[in-house]
Amino acid sequence: MTITTHSPEETQELAARLGKALFPGAVLALRGDLGAGKTAFVRGLAQGMGVSGRVHSPTFALVHEHNGPLPLFHFDLYRLEDGLAETGLDEYFDRGGVCALEWPEKAEDELPLERLDVILRSPDEATREITFLPRGKAYEECIKSLL
Ligand code: ADP
Ligand code: MG
Repeated sequence: MTITTHSPEETQELAARLGKALFPGAVLALRGDLGAGKTAFVRGLAQGMGVSGRVHSPTFALVHEHNGPLPLFHFDLYRLEDGLAETGLDEYFDRGGVCALEWPEKAEDELPLERLDVILRSPDEATREITFLPRGKAYEECIKSLL
């Protein structure tokens, strides 16, 4: 399923709707180039999940934790060295929160098979084509909330 947005606000609203439908242990892999809108998407997720704190790129840390009804673990793996054997990522997957990962390809082998892949493309400055690829039944249910 692909949805096109025309502003950062629209992307955030879309992500907020998804955020309301997410469940403990949900994992989202956000894929797209620099400036594609991955962080903007997480900002919307946070809003929809009702978590506290401002969302910005975890530049120095690999992960930011936000508290809320469900905790949100926001990862940016950009600086992770390719093929690093042990990131400890899987510890977060079992903590009953939502994990949103930017640059998940840096730890592709460690991603759970059941997850939601979100691919963001940027055909022009204000347009984003956002494709949702649910890997598993639970995620198929989730993205129905976006229709
Ligand atoms: P990433 O985390 O993928 O590097 P960011 O979310 O940090 O990307 O940045 C996205 C940039 O694109 C922001 O400057 C934002 O204002 C801009 N933008 C323009 N149109 C959109 C849109 N439709 N959705 C999301 N971001 C958009
Ligand atoms: Mg980012």
